[in-house]
Amino acid sequence: MNESQFIEKLKNIDGNKPVTELYNEISALAMSFGKSNSQKPAERNAYYLSMEFLIGRSFYNNLMELGVLEQTREILAGKGIDINVFEEIEDAALGNGGLGRLAACFLDSAAGLGLPLHGYGIRYKYGLFKQAVKNGFQVELPDDWQRFGDPWSERREDEKRSVVFADMTVTAVPYDMPVFGKRVNVLRLWQAEGGEEAQKISEYLYPADDTEEGKILRLRQEYFFSAASVGELVEKHVEKHGENFALFPKYNAVQLNDTHPVLAIAELIRVLTAEYKVGFAEALEIAKQTFSYTNHTVLPEALECWNAAIVEKILPEIHALLIRIGESQKEEMQELGCSDGEIAATAVYSGDYFSMANLALYVGKTVNGVARLHTEILKNSLFKTAYKYFPQKFTNKTNGITQRRWLMLCNGEFSELIDGAIGKGWRENVAELDKLAGCTRKITEGFIKVKAQKKKQLFEYIKRREGVDIPENFLVYAQVKRLHEYKRQLMTAFAILEIYNGLKDGTVKDFAPSVFVFGAKSASGYKRAKAIIKFINEIARKINSDTQTNGLLKVVFVCNYNVSYAEKIVAGTDVSLQVSTAGLEASGTGNMKFMMNGSVTCGTMDGANIEIVENAGEENNYIFGATVEEIEKLKRDGYDPAEYLADPKHAKAVNSLVDGTFDDGGTGCFRELYESITVGASWHPADNYFVLYDLQSYVNALLKINADYKDKKAFALKQLENAAHSAYFSSDRTIKEYAEEIWKI
Ligand SMILES: *Cc1c(COP(=O)(O)O)cnc(C)c1O
Repeated sequence: MNESQFIEKLKNIDGNKPVTELYNEISALAMSFGKSNSQKPAERNAYYLSMEFLIGRSFYNNLMELGVLEQTREILAGKGIDINVFEEIEDAALGNGGLGRLAACFLDSAAGLGLPLHGYGIRYKYGLFKQAVKNGFQVELPDDWQRFGDPWSERREDEKRSVVFADMTVTAVPYDMPVFGKRVNVLRLWQAEGGEEAQKISEYLYPADDTEEGKILRLRQEYFFSAASVGELVEKHVEKHGENFALFPKYNAVQLNDTHPVLAIAELIRVLTAEYKVGFAEALEIAKQTFSYTNHTVLPEALECWNAAIVEKILPEIHALLIRIGESQKEEMQELGCSDGEIAATAVYSGDYFSMANLALYVGKTVNGVARLHTEILKNSLFKTAYKYFPQKFTNKTNGITQRRWLMLCNGEFSELIDGAIGKGWRENVAELDKLAGCTRKITEGFIKVKAQKKKQLFEYIKRREGVDIPENFLVYAQVKRLHEYKRQLMTAFAILEIYNGLKDGTVKDFAPSVFVFGAKSASGYKRAKAIIKFINEIARKINSDTQTNGLLKVVFVCNYNVSYAEKIVAGTDVSLQVSTAGLEASGTGNMKFMMNGSVTCGTMDGANIEIVENAGEENNYIFGATVEEIEKLKRDGYDPAEYLADPKHAKAVNSLVDGTFDDGGTGCFRELYESITVGASWHPADNYFVLYDLQSYVNALLKINADYKDKKAFALKQLENAAHSAYFSSDRTIKEYAEEIWKI
C-alpha cells in the first residue's frame, strides 16, 4: 500500500464507529502502509535487549513518522472526528521509567537515522500499574492495555520457539512491532505460552520478588527473553552463514540494557557449546566480541545477584556454565596479578551468588555509563577494580531523547516557530538545531506566545483529569518522575511548605503566582515513597483551599503519570525540577525533555544536569546544593541534620509531618518519614539523602527563579537558550555514538 492508497482508504472509513474500532482500523491501515517500506535486513545488525520498552502511545507517533498525521487529522475532522479522541486509548506501559523510555527513544532514533538496531523484550500482559489516588494514597490498578486491541504488533506464530527450564518448557511467541523511520526496524516482544505456569512468565512487569517464589519468577523472566532472543540469533546465523561461529560477532552486536538480560551471555555460550559442539574457550571468546553492557544506576539494584541454589534448581546447565565462566575469569585475574580483595570484588561467582554486573564487566566488550559524571563514578568507585584492569572497556554514552516524540509531536507550535527561524532541516538533522542559538532574541516574543498556549492546553488537561483550576498566568514548576527518596520529591514538598508559610507570615513578598506540578508512581512495596505521595496530596489539599494564598500558590499531583502525560507537561512547564542527591541520578532524561521544550532547570550538579548546564549556560539555569565531592565529605566527616532543624523555618516544614498539621489517615506513615529525616532507621543514618542540607539553597533557588520570572522577556530568553542548546541531548546523537563506537553498524 502506498501513501495515496492509504489516504483513499482512510477517506472511506465509516466515522460513526466506536472509537476503539476506529483506532484499530486506522492503525491497521497505517501498519500495512508503513510495512510496505520495509527494506531487506542489513548484513550486520545491532540488538537491544531490554526488560522494558516504555513506548507510550503509538498512534500519533507512528502516523507522524509515516508523514500522514496532518492529513489524517484533516480527513477525520471532515468526518466530524477530533483526532484527540484516540487519547482515550491508554498507553502500553511496558516499562517503569527512564530506562524503559530510553530503550524506546533509542529504537526511534535508530530507525530515524536508518540504522539497523532491533529490540528484544517481553510482551507483558499487564504493564506498569495504573495509578489512582484515593484519599491522597496511591492505589494500584492493573494495566490491561490489550483491551483496546494491539493493532501495532503482529503475532508471528511461524517464528515461535522453545525455552527450556529444568521443570518446564515454555513457548516463546514473538509479537513484532515495526519501528518506522528511514528504515523500518523491529521490536520483537516475546510472549510466554504453554500452560498456566508458563503464561505467568510474561504476565507482569517486575512481579514482587521479596519471596523465593517471586525471585524464581524474575529469574525465569530474565532467562526467558534472553534465551529466546539469543537462540533466534544463533539459528538465523546458521541459516545464513552455516556453523562458522567465528563470524557471529561480525554480523551481530548485542547491547545489554542493564543487568536484566545479562544471562544472555551464558546462554550464547550454552547454545554454542551444547548444541553446536563449539569448545568452551572459543564460545567464550565469541561472547566477548558480541556483548556490550550499559549500567544505569549506582543504587544497589545495579548489582543484581542470583542465588546459586535457585539458578541450579531452575537452570542447571546455566549454573554449571556460570561456574566455569567464573573460573576462567578468576584465572585471568590471577594472571594479571590481582590481589585476593580485587578477585573477590570482580568475582562472577562468590560461592553463593552469581553477580550479573561482574559477568557483564568480564565478558562485555564495552561497559558504559549514561552521563559523563555517572561514567566517572563507575570508573572511580562502583567498578573501580574492573576499571583498573580493563580501562579500555569503559566508555561514556550520555543519554538522549528523541526530538520526534519529545518536540515535534508534543509541541508542534514550538516546532513551527523553530522552522520559521532556522528552516526545517533540524527535523532530519538535529544538529541544525544549534542554529537557533543565533536567533533566540528574534523569536522571544513568539516563544512567549507558544509557551502560554502550551500552558493553557496543559491547564485544561489538568482541570479535566484532576479537577484542579490553575489560572492562566501561573508560573509552572514541575517535578515528574518515579517516586524515590534519592530524587527528593520530599525536599520539594518541604520547600513548598516554606514558601507557603512565608506567604502567610509576609516574609515571602512579591511572589509571582506559581503552581507546582508533581507526577510520580511509587513501587507498590515502597512504603516511604507512598508516604511521600500522601504527604504531597495533603499539602496540595491544604494549600489549594487556602483562600488567603491560593491566588498565588497551588500544588497539583497528577494521577497516573505516564508518557502521554509527560508529553503535555514538558511542553507547558517553565521550570524543570531535577534535584536528586548529587551522585545518585545516573543521567536523567526527563531533564532533557524539558530543556528541549524551553524550560530552565532548577537542579543539583548531578547526572546529565552537569552537561545541560555546560551546553546551555549556568546563567540560564539555577544550580544549587551539594556537589558529589561535598556529599562525600559529609559522609566521611559525619552529617547531623539536627543542625539544620535548628532553623525555625525548616523545623516548621519538617514538623508538619508530626505536629497535627497533616493527617496520614492513622497509618503512622508520616511519623516514619519524619524519623527517616531526623533519626534514621536500622539501615541508614538520619537524612541519608541530605534533604535538610540542601533545603535552604533549594528554597533560595526557587525564589530567585520566581523573582527573575517577573522580567518575562529575559526569562523567556533563558528558556529559549536551553532549547537552542538541546541538540546534544537528542538520542540521535547518542545512537550515532553507540553505532560508531560500540556496534560498528
Ligand atoms: C522520561 C520519562 C521518565 C524518566 O524521567 P527522569 O526524570 O529522567 O527520571 C520516567 N517516566 C516517564 C513516563 C518518562 O516519559
